[in-house]
Amino acid sequence: MAHNGIPHCVVKGCDLRVKVKMRGLCLRHYKKWLKYGDPTKGGTYRHNAPKCEIHGCQGKPYARDMCHRHYKAWWKRQKRLSQMTQ
Ligand SMILES: [Zn+2]
Ligand SMILES: [Zn+2]
Repeated sequence: MAHNGIPHCVVKGCDLRVKVKMRGLCLRHYKKWLKYGDPTKGGTYRHNAPKCEIHGCQGKPYARDMCHRHYKAWWKRQKRLSQMTQ
Protein backbone atom coordinates (compact mmCIF):
# COMPACT_ATOMS: atom_id res chain seq x y z
CA MET A 1 0.00 0.00 0.00
CA ALA A 2 1.27 3.45 -0.89
CA HIS A 3 1.59 5.92 1.89
CA ASN A 4 -0.50 8.60 0.30
CA GLY A 5 -3.79 8.23 2.13
CA ILE A 6 -5.34 10.86 4.31
CA PRO A 7 -3.39 10.88 7.54
CA HIS A 8 -5.00 9.75 10.73
CA CYS A 9 -4.79 11.40 14.11
CA VAL A 10 -1.52 10.71 15.92
CA VAL A 11 -3.28 9.72 19.14
CA LYS A 12 -3.01 6.01 19.69
CA GLY A 13 -6.24 4.20 19.01
CA CYS A 14 -7.82 7.17 17.27
CA ASP A 15 -8.67 6.52 13.65
CA LEU A 16 -10.19 9.89 12.89
CA ARG A 17 -8.82 11.96 10.06
CA VAL A 18 -6.39 14.73 10.80
CA LYS A 19 -8.05 18.11 10.85
CA VAL A 20 -5.20 20.11 12.33
CA LYS A 21 -2.20 19.18 10.22
CA MET A 22 0.23 21.21 12.25
CA ARG A 23 -0.44 18.96 15.22
CA GLY A 24 -1.41 15.80 13.43
CA LEU A 25 -4.60 15.72 15.43
CA CYS A 26 -8.23 15.18 14.67
CA LEU A 27 -10.66 17.87 15.76
CA ARG A 28 -11.61 16.07 18.96
CA HIS A 29 -8.07 15.64 20.13
CA TYR A 30 -7.14 19.11 19.00
CA LYS A 31 -9.84 20.52 21.25
CA LYS A 32 -8.43 18.50 24.10
CA TRP A 33 -5.00 19.75 23.32
CA LEU A 34 -6.29 23.33 23.41
CA LYS A 35 -7.98 22.74 26.72
CA TYR A 36 -5.43 20.61 28.53
CA GLY A 37 -2.26 21.08 26.55
CA ASP A 38 -2.28 17.34 25.96
CA PRO A 39 -4.57 15.55 23.54
CA THR A 40 -4.76 12.46 25.71
CA LYS A 41 -5.72 14.25 28.91
CA GLY A 42 -9.18 14.53 30.32
CA GLY A 43 -10.02 10.88 29.91
CA THR A 44 -10.09 8.74 26.83
CA TYR A 45 -13.04 8.49 24.56
CA ARG A 46 -15.25 5.63 25.33
CA HIS A 47 -16.59 4.74 21.95
CA ASN A 48 -18.56 1.98 23.57
CA ALA A 49 -20.50 4.18 25.96
CA PRO A 50 -24.10 3.21 25.35
CA LYS A 51 -25.58 6.67 25.03
CA CYS A 52 -25.31 10.32 25.95
CA GLU A 53 -24.86 10.83 29.68
CA ILE A 54 -27.46 13.59 29.77
CA HIS A 55 -30.46 12.08 31.42
CA GLY A 56 -33.18 11.15 29.02
CA CYS A 57 -31.09 11.75 25.90
CA GLN A 58 -30.77 8.84 23.52
CA GLY A 59 -28.10 10.46 21.41
CA LYS A 60 -24.96 8.61 20.47
CA PRO A 61 -21.91 9.59 22.51
CA TYR A 62 -19.60 11.96 20.66
CA ALA A 63 -17.22 13.20 23.34
CA ARG A 64 -17.13 13.20 27.11
CA ASP A 65 -19.94 10.67 27.00
CA MET A 66 -22.24 13.26 25.54
CA CYS A 67 -23.92 13.36 22.18
CA HIS A 68 -22.80 15.92 19.65
CA ARG A 69 -25.57 18.31 20.57
CA HIS A 70 -24.95 18.21 24.29
CA TYR A 71 -21.21 18.25 23.84
CA LYS A 72 -21.47 21.38 21.74
CA ALA A 73 -23.60 23.04 24.39
CA TRP A 74 -21.11 21.98 27.03
CA TRP A 75 -18.22 23.27 24.97
CA LYS A 76 -19.91 26.65 24.53
CA ARG A 77 -20.49 26.83 28.25
CA GLN A 78 -16.83 26.06 28.95
CA LYS A 79 -15.74 28.72 26.53
CA ARG A 80 -18.03 31.27 28.09
CA LEU A 81 -16.77 30.40 31.57
CA SER A 82 -13.15 30.71 30.56
CA GLN A 83 -13.84 34.06 28.96
CA MET A 84 -15.53 35.27 32.11
CA THR A 85 -12.56 34.46 34.28
CA GLN A 86 -10.11 36.32 32.08
ZN1 LIG B 1 -7.88 11.87 17.45
ZN1 LIG C 1 -27.38 14.24 24.45
